[in-house]
Amino acid sequence: MYDYLIVGAGLAGCVMAERIANILDKKVLIIEKRNHIGGNCYDYLNENDILVHKYGPHLFHTDLLEVWEYLSQFTKWNNYQLHVLGFIDGKKVPIPFNLNTLHELLPDDSAEKLERKLLDKIGLNNKIPILKLRRSEDRDLKFLADYIYEKVFLNYTKKQWGIIPEELDPSVTERVPIYISRDDKFFNDIYQGLPINGYYKMFEKMVENPNIKIILKTNFNEVIKLVDNEIFFLGRKFDGKLIFTGQIDELFNYEYDELPYRSLKFEFESFDKEYYQEVGIVNYPNNQDYTRITEFKHFTNQENQKTCIVKEYPKPYCRETDIPYYPIPNIEYHNLYLKYLKKSEKIKDLILVGRLAEYKYYNMDTVVMEALQKFQLL
Ligand SMILES: Cc1cc2nc3c(=O)[nH]c(=O)nc-3n(C[C@H](O)[C@H](O)[C@H](O)COP(=O)(O)OP(=O)(O)OC[C@H]3O[C@@H](n4cnc5c(N)ncnc54)[C@H](O)[C@@H]3O)c2cc1C
Repeated sequence: MYDYLIVGAGLAGCVMAERIANILDKKVLIIEKRNHIGGNCYDYLNENDILVHKYGPHLFHTDLLEVWEYLSQFTKWNNYQLHVLGFIDGKKVPIPFNLNTLHELLPDDSAEKLERKLLDKIGLNNKIPILKLRRSEDRDLKFLADYIYEKVFLNYTKKQWGIIPEELDPSVTERVPIYISRDDKFFNDIYQGLPINGYYKMFEKMVENPNIKIILKTNFNEVIKLVDNEIFFLGRKFDGKLIFTGQIDELFNYEYDELPYRSLKFEFESFDKEYYQEVGIVNYPNNQDYTRITEFKHFTNQENQKTCIVKEYPKPYCRETDIPYYPIPNIEYHNLYLKYLKKSEKIKDLILVGRLAEYKYYNMDTVVMEALQKFQLL
């Protein structure tokens, strides 16, 4: 009856379903364990009619024209550009750390001297990862790097990941580099914004095709089994392809051990005032148990006399109770993932897509690109 089974109605699953249904004109069944589509990008109107992101703030940004054009078939964008402040030494200063941050935190004469050095050694509008700046041979830059490391990175990383920056894959700290610039925007990608009517509406449009059927509130293992490298659906051998966007360790019943993830607790609060904070996101690297506070109205400019914020408390992932928000990028866990990947390659009609199946800390645009590329290989 179905040509394709897709596990997961997140971004990866919905892109694959949309392409298969619209381009190949084949029948797809999506199996999703939550009670909605959209995965972690899901948003909804809360009790005060404010559009909020259920699983933490999602800002779309990309340099990939193909991805931007693809998603633009299903939504218009509001072109919002994210600004982030970090609460450091009692002040709210621009993040990523840039020349403005330098002048706000350090005395004028030191800041000016360090600015000259940064411009000279790294150059205007260039970025440098903190761990690289820490290896600087210049004494002043090394001092600055250690200062930024302590104030911005060390405690934030320990809170977010449960380990210190050096134990993570360098790609993680490189996501928020030091920026030798006066530009306070958080991202520099060419295309930025949020879907004008929210992510959920965009997802609804993507899967609007009679070729696509979705069953919610169903764990894949209630209907799909792998036996001797064959795919079984509802007890019978399945002749189509299985596109899997869930956790790869779960797919193989944790045979080689569980892959670790980080999870989050979200605490939403509403206030009877128009705005709570100056910008969309304020980071709290040091003093609080939460890592950041997001105020959604900044993203949308919604007119409303009330506002809503969410605080994010990172925590270790527990299989029974939590959502696996982040795969943990480091070499040990990557090697465990490779064992699962090798096993998956024995199953001819299995395709893995997305951040859980590929165990990668992907942004939305990379997930879309991956899915578009994997679709080409079907
Ligand atoms: C707090 C947070 C903030 C983020 N902010 C940004 C941002 O600002 N910008 C950005 O580009 N990216 C951001 N991301 C990353 C973004 O969420 C991901 O890139 C994207 O959602 C990945 O899509 P996916 O389909 O791979 O995974 P998911 O969205 O996780 O979708 C997977 C789906 O599979 C379902 N599933 C899992 N297991 C099963 C099962 N056993 N049975 C049935 N269904 C199952 C899940 O319920 C889920 O719906 C953020 C992520 C988090 C956690």
